[in-house]
Parts: sequence; C-alpha cells; structure tokens
Amino acid sequence: MSDYREMWESLGLNMEAHDALMAALPPLYGDIYLSQANRPQGMGYFDFVVSEIHGIRVKELQDHRAQGGKVVGAFCVYVPEEVVMAAGGICVGLCGGLDIALDEVEKVLPRNLCSLIKSFMGFKLGKVCPYFESCDLIVGETTCDGKKKAFEVLADYAPVYVMETPQMKREMDYDLWKQEIYRFIEKMEELTGNTITEASLREAIRKVDGKRKALKRLSATRKAVPSPISGKDALLTYQIAFYDDVDRFTAKVNELADELEARVARGEGAGEGPEGPRIIVTGTPMAIPNWKLPHLIETAGARVVYDELCTGERYFQNLVEDFGDIDSMTMDEMVDAIARRSMEVDCACFTPNRGRTDKVLRMVDEYRADGVIHYSLQFCDPYTIEAFEMEKALKERGVPYMRLETDYSQEDTGQLMTRIEAFLELVKERV
Ligand code: SF4
Ligand code: SF4
Repeated sequence: MSDYREMWESLGLNMEAHDALMAALPPLYGDIYLSQANRPQGMGYFDFVVSEIHGIRVKELQDHRAQGGKVVGAFCVYVPEEVVMAAGGICVGLCGGLDIALDEVEKVLPRNLCSLIKSFMGFKLGKVCPYFESCDLIVGETTCDGKKKAFEVLADYAPVYVMETPQMKREMDYDLWKQEIYRFIEKMEELTGNTITEASLREAIRKVDGKRKALKRLSATRKAVPSPISGKDALLTYQIAFYDDVDRFTAKVNELADELEARVARGEGAGEGPEGPRIIVTGTPMAIPNWKLPHLIETAGARVVYDELCTGERYFQNLVEDFGDIDSMTMDEMVDAIARRSMEVDCACFTPNRGRTDKVLRMVDEYRADGVIHYSLQFCDPYTIEAFEMEKALKERGVPYMRLETDYSQEDTGQLMTRIEAFLELVKERV
C-alpha cells in the first residue's frame, strides 16, 4: 500500500489517522475472513479488493478524474447509479461501517444518531476516506430524518446535492420520484458537461442490471442446503458492489457464481461440518467493514443464508428490465422504469412498508430458513420501530425471531453472542 502515499497526500488525507486505519484493517480481516475453512476460490478476488481497499480503485478514480471524468458519492440505493454512468461519471457508495473521529463528529452532530451517519461524517471530518476526497459531488436523499439533517451539515464540508425521496408509494409519489430523477439527470449533465442520451442511458441500465443479475445468481445459490458460501463472504461481495468497477465486478461475481453452482451440484457447503441453523438477517445496511453480526452468528455455529438489507437483496433484487424491454424503451420509459425499480425497495423510511415483512415471510420458505434475526443500529427509528411489526408477523407464522440493536463498537459483542447462542438453541429445538 505504500506506493499510494503520494496519492493519499494529494487527496489531503490525514496521514497519521489513515495509517492507523490501514494498520487496523488486515488483522480484523484476517480474523473474520481469512480464518474461514473451505472458502470458494472465487473469493480471492474480493480478498484482493479489500487488501487494496484504498489503493487500486482509488487510483482508477484519480485516473478517471485526470481525464476530465467526475466521481459522485452516494449513501442510498435509491440514488440511480445508471444516471451517473450514462453521464460518463463513476458512482461510489460512501456509507461507513466503522466508528471514526467521533470527537470531531460530536462537535457538529448530536451523539444520539445512528452509527452509519456518524461514521460517514467521521470519515469526512477525520479526512481518512480517499473515496470521499475523490468525489466531485455528494448525493444525499431525504430518507430518514437523521440523514436528511446530516446532509445539511455535510454541505459545510463538501458539495452536496439532495434528492427528495418520497415517503409513500402512491402513484403521485412515483411521479415525484420520476421528476427527481429528471432533475438528477440535469444535475449530472451540468456536472459532467455530457449529455445523457437514449443510447448512453440504455447502455448504463444494461451494465448495472448486469451487476444486479450476477448478484442475484450468487444469492440464489444460497437457497441450497447446505449453502455453498458463508454469509460473511456473500455480504462482502454485496458491500464491494457499491464501489468496484461495474464490468470487472460483474465478471468476478459471475465467476464466483459458476463455482458456487458447481458446489451446489456436488452438495458441497461452505466451511467444515454441518452448516447449523439457517438464518435470515434483516434490517439496517451493513457498510464495509461492518461484519460484526454475521461474524457472531456464524461463529456461534449457524449460517446466514439471506440478507434482507440494502447491502444485500434490496440492492439487487429488482431490475430495470423487469419493467419493460430496455431495447425498445424511449428515454421517458427508461426514466419511468428506473423510478419504478427503485420504488420496489422496501426501505423502512416508507410508510406503510408491509412489503418488507411479506418479503421476509416468503424468503423464510424459499431459503429454507430456520430463524430470522432483525438487526438495527441504535437510534435508527425506522428499522427499530418496524422490528415490532416483523416480530408480530413472524411469530404468527411460528418462525423463531430475535431483535438485536447494536452500534459499531465492539463493547457489546459478548452480550450479543450470549443472546445469539440462546436464540440458536431455541431454533435447534424446533428444527
Ligand atoms: S435503508 Fe433506506 S435509506 Fe438506507 S440505503 Fe436502504 S433505501 Fe436508502
Ligand atoms: S441506519 Fe436508520 S437512522 Fe441510520 S441512516 Fe439508515 S435509516 Fe437512517
């Protein structure tokens, strides 16, 4: 990584804090990931991406910018990356999965905000994220109150543009969202100096749908008993989807899916020995390097088989092409389909949001899950409140269920592990 020092310095990173961050990651990754037995060979690429987390990809972004290209940062799966790509830009996810520069953050934001918001603010204020520092524009959204207000503060430190995401899913809300996408198209054209044409938008839709299809293939292999991939490894691929090069990532996920499908055909599972209870995790997104919960669940002897998360199924379960034939769509039809695809995402910021509960109920059957664990970050009202409706629905169906609330610290891992182990005992009694 030392070859990149000049690049990091030129981006204005706080080198001392950045060195400390880079030193902390390999042992964490080694313990959580590299210690797993019988990993698919295809995970080698994703290990490499993590080993180069602030290296090669950041260099690619700098090369792109040196040629006049723009980089756009986003925090939500509602932001249409197809539009950024159609304008010749690169979209990167900026959600943080680690506590950083909390002292600085708590000078500008209240303490009782979710870790995800405090993390992205910390990465910015602490100047330790080369992706943040590479962005020509940061795109926020009006999903939850915490994010909405935090973007106002973030605007003091970076160029911020906010998209108005609706709170309901009526026809008038689709119309609003479609108009917002048109407004975003204009913004991207202004930022990049490029016109978004029917052809460039069509091509971008194909590429991003291609990425989603590859991830769907990977996810489908997890229906097999035993699952051919650990939940931790699957989560890692989903997390990397937000910032890797789209074509390369799609090819690597498809290679991994080939290997996983062959494993399924042979009846070979991930790890060693029996896979244990099969668990669905549902709740708030887990941004890289937040691997805390799946690591605890799998260390306790269970297997995570489905992630009803935005760093998971919500990101890729729906395609733009589900809403029509891309080849024959007009510009307006493509914008409409992009809007409709994202409005299928069952985020707890919407009301009502029964679709999410229904989805989890269906996935319990499809993925032959033995239990569901609801994960929410402390101070995340939308997901923490929705956890109760989920509990009611799953209990009515007799599906073992547990709600967990946590943050990015490691202080509660012992307590969480005790609760997870007790839950798994209950699940095993019912299997
Ligand atoms: S949980 Fe909601 S606000 Fe967060 S990324 Fe997903 S859709 Fe966006
Ligand atoms: S975790 Fe909850 S509170 Fe935090 S940004 Fe996401 S929706 Fe908002």
